[in-house]
Amino acid sequence: MSKRQSGSQESFSASQLPEYLIITCLDCSVKNKVASKKLSLNPRCGKCGTLLRTEDML
Ligand SMILES: [Zn+2]
Repeated sequence: MSKRQSGSQESFSASQLPEYLIITCLDCSVKNKVASKKLSLNPRCGKCGTLLRTEDML
């Protein structure tokens, strides 16, 4: 049994959003590169751990 997924799941229509967004942390002003697919998962700042506000981005 050889299951090979040759990128069949990659046909997600991501034509509207860029793959990554730059979100500036409100706490420490560090710019965080967040995958647009993870915006709904409450991404945190990579430096201070503050939740990044993404409401304004969408
Ligand atoms: Zn921060």
